[in-house]
Amino acid sequence: MNVPFIDLKAQYETIKEEINAAVHNVLQSCAFAGGPYVEQFEEHFADYCNCRHAIGVGSGTEALWLTLLALGVGKGDEVITVPNTFIATAEAISFCGASPVFVDIDASTCNMAPHLMENAVTDKTRAVIPVHLYGQTADMDPIREAARKHNLYVIEDACQAHGAEYKGKKAGSLGNAGCFSFYPGKNLGAYGEAGAVVTNDDGLDERIRYLRDHGQPQKYHHRLIGWNARMDGIQGAVLTVKLNFLDQWNALRRQNAALYKRLLDEADGVVLPEEAEHRKHVYHLFPIRQPYRDVLMSDLKAKDIHCAIHYPLPIHLQDAYKHLGLKPGVFPATEKAAEEVLSLPMFPELTEPMIEHVCNEIKKWEEYGIQAALAK
Ligand SMILES: *Cc1c(COP(=O)(O)O)cnc(C)c1O
Repeated sequence: MNVPFIDLKAQYETIKEEINAAVHNVLQSCAFAGGPYVEQFEEHFADYCNCRHAIGVGSGTEALWLTLLALGVGKGDEVITVPNTFIATAEAISFCGASPVFVDIDASTCNMAPHLMENAVTDKTRAVIPVHLYGQTADMDPIREAARKHNLYVIEDACQAHGAEYKGKKAGSLGNAGCFSFYPGKNLGAYGEAGAVVTNDDGLDERIRYLRDHGQPQKYHHRLIGWNARMDGIQGAVLTVKLNFLDQWNALRRQNAALYKRLLDEADGVVLPEEAEHRKHVYHLFPIRQPYRDVLMSDLKAKDIHCAIHYPLPIHLQDAYKHLGLKPGVFPATEKAAEEVLSLPMFPELTEPMIEHVCNEIKKWEEYGIQAALAK
C-alpha cells in the first residue's frame, strides 16, 4: 500500500466545485493583485483568530519580515527565537538587519524552553519569536511574562499552527502579532504562495499594510519605503473557501493522531508526540522519535511509506549562519531532536487502513529491522 506523506490532490477532490467557482470569479473580475477577494479573506481570518486585523501578504516569510520591520526592529537589534524551526524564522530577523539569538527547546514539545529565554536577553533584545512548531503552541505565559519584564515584542510564528489553541485562545492572538503561512502543505494552504499577519494593534496593522504595498496609503503617494508583498486575489478566494473547512480538517488530523498513538503505544523504541497541558494541538505534523531514525525512514520508504524530517540540521549549524560561531553541542535538546525526529504521514484525508498499515510496519521493523540497524 502506498502511503504518501501528504496528498493535496485528495483534498482538492473534496472541494473541487467550490474552489473552481471561486477561482472563476477572480478570473471574471480580474482582481488579481490584492483587491476584494483578499479583503474578504482578511476579514474572515481575523474573525477566526479572534483578532481585530488580518493583513494578507505573499508568504509566511514576508509576514514575519514585515512584522519585524513594522515594529522598528533593525540593525544592531537582537531577536530571540529557537534553532529548530524552518529557516524562515531566522531569515526574517536577518533580513531586517537584526541578529537571531537562539534558545534551546523543551525536549517533550520541541518548542522554546521558556526558562532558558531570559538568559538570552541583552540590552539589544527587542523581540521574541516563539514558534508553534508541529501544530502546538509554545508555552506562552512564561514567555509573555519574561517579554513584559524586559519590554520585548512577542511575535508568534504560527506558520504551522492554524487553529491551535493555548488556554482556549487561538494561536496568533497571543502576542503583539501572529504570522501565518498558507504554503500549500500547511493546515490552511493556498494554491500558490501566501501568508498573513494577525494583530489587535491598530498602528501595527496600518504600518504592515503600507509596507506590503510600497508604503502607499494612496496610489502613487508613498509615505514609507515599502515593498511589494501583496497577496494574490486567487489565493484570497481559495483561502476564503478553505477556511470554512479548517476546523473540520484539524479535527480529522487530531483523530489521525489519536489512532497513531493508540496503535504505536506498545512500540518500545518509539517516542510519540504529546499534547501539553492547556493546549489544543492541530498536528500539522506527527513527529515520532526513534534513535535509529535514518534506517527506519529508509526501510519504510522501501515499503512505499513516505516520511519526512523536520528538521535534519538546526539553524545554528547551517552554513548560512556560521558567522554566529555556534558549534555543535550548544543546543543539546535541539541537536538530539534533529537526530531522532521522524514525521509520519499526516493529512486530514489519511485513511484508517493507511494508518494501521504504517503502524504495523513500524512494529514489524521494531522486531526485525532494529536488529539490522544495530548491526550496522
Ligand atoms: C512554512 C513556515 C514558514 C514560512 O512560510 P512560507 O509561506 O513558506 O514563507 C515560517 N516558519 C515556519 C515555522 C514554517 O513552518
